[in-house]
Formats: sequence, C-alpha cells, structure tokens
Amino acid sequence: MHVILFGAPGAGKGTQAKIISNHYHIPHISTGEILRNAVREGTELGKTAGEIIAAGHLVPDDIMLGIIRERITREDCHKGFILDGFPRTIPQAESLDHLWEELNFPELVCLEIIAPDDAIINRLINRRICEICHTDYNLITNPPDADMICKKCNGRIVQRKDDTRKTIKDRLNLYQRETAPLRDYYKDHGHFYKINGSQSIDAVKSEIYKILENK
Ligand code: AMP
Repeated sequence: MHVILFGAPGAGKGTQAKIISNHYHIPHISTGEILRNAVREGTELGKTAGEIIAAGHLVPDDIMLGIIRERITREDCHKGFILDGFPRTIPQAESLDHLWEELNFPELVCLEIIAPDDAIINRLINRRICEICHTDYNLITNPPDADMICKKCNGRIVQRKDDTRKTIKDRLNLYQRETAPLRDYYKDHGHFYKINGSQSIDAVKSEIYKILENK
C-alpha cells in the first residue's frame, strides 16, 4: 500500500500517518521529522535546513527529492509506505512521478486531511513534541506531565521552533500557495480523497481505513 497523506500543518497528518503505519505495518516517512533529526544531529543537511524550517519556508526541491529517493528505495519500503509532508509542491510531485515509474511502484492513494484555519492555529500553538520519539502532546487536550518529560521514552518535550503564531500563519499561506494545487494534480491522476479533519482522531482514522480497505 502506497499512500500520500497531505494537509495543512496541524491538520493531523502526523497523527494519522503513525496510526496507519502501525495498522498496515508500512513505514511512516515524515520529511519534517527527517529534517528535524538532521538539524538535531548537526549534519550537513541539518545545517542547510535549520533556518529554513524555523522560518516556515520550504527546503529546496532538489534536496527534498534526494532525501525521498534515498528513503523509499530502502528494503523496508518494498511493500509500501506512507508519505507525510512530501510532495509539497508541483515540481516535487512531478519528480515523484518519475521516480515512481523508474522504481515500478504500484498505484498510489492520495489523501488530503482538511481542517479550518482557526482550529489548526489553536492546535499548533498548544502542540508540544518529544524531541526523541516525536510523540505529540497538546497543552489542552493531551497535556504532558509538569516535568515535560515524555511518558513513552523519557525524552524532552519541546515546542517546535516553527509553531509560533506568526510562522504558523506563514506556513498556512504557503500551504495554500504551493501545496493546495496538488489537489488538482492528484485528482487528474485518480485516487484522490478528501478527509474531514475536524472530527475526533478516531473518526478521522475510520474514514481513512474505509478508503484504504476498498483499495
Ligand atoms: P512538517 O513537519 O511536515 O510540518 O515539516 C516541517 C518543515 O520541514 C516545513 O515547514 C518545511 O520547512 C520542511 N519540509 C518538510 N517537508 C518538506 C518538503 N516536502 N519540501 C520542502 N520543505 C519541507
């Protein structure tokens, strides 16, 4: 099963991608997580990407395509994977199509989780993440302990540098400008589905399962 999950920042992609990945035993490939790990580890990629991510801008397409090519050609991706955060621009989608053909992958399913901006801003302002295992917390709906230590792995729980009100608004605008056009791109390719991201996590999950199980 090869799935692309897209949606504005805070629409719930990461949460749902982790659920789908566990359920179908396919790797969850989050380009945001790959980049944040590189920043934390101080690699060359991290040095290039750090400021771009903090400002809420997009990392150049050629760098992103290199990351994706390296990741989806690994052994664990043979039976499928779920892409979270890639592609984010039309040139990325076109390059992915070429790669798809080259690697002879089967048809993909493209899902977009849609949620209103005010709900998204609220979620992201209150979002905190474990810097080690990337578990999501929310100060209102799923608060961490007062010591801000992750219950799963004892990692530090932090706020993402790009989860400030100003950067969130910029990222939402960027999504509309650069990523939303992918809707039409994937509609033309078939297998595009919209998911209502305003529901509970469980309800969103069920909507996604229903689509994937009919594939
Ligand atoms: P995310 O965790 O998906 O919200 O991604 C965090 C940040 O990583 C984004 O705001 C971008 O700066 C960068 N990033 C992630 N995926 C991509 C991509 N496909 N193209 C360009 N930049 C990306």
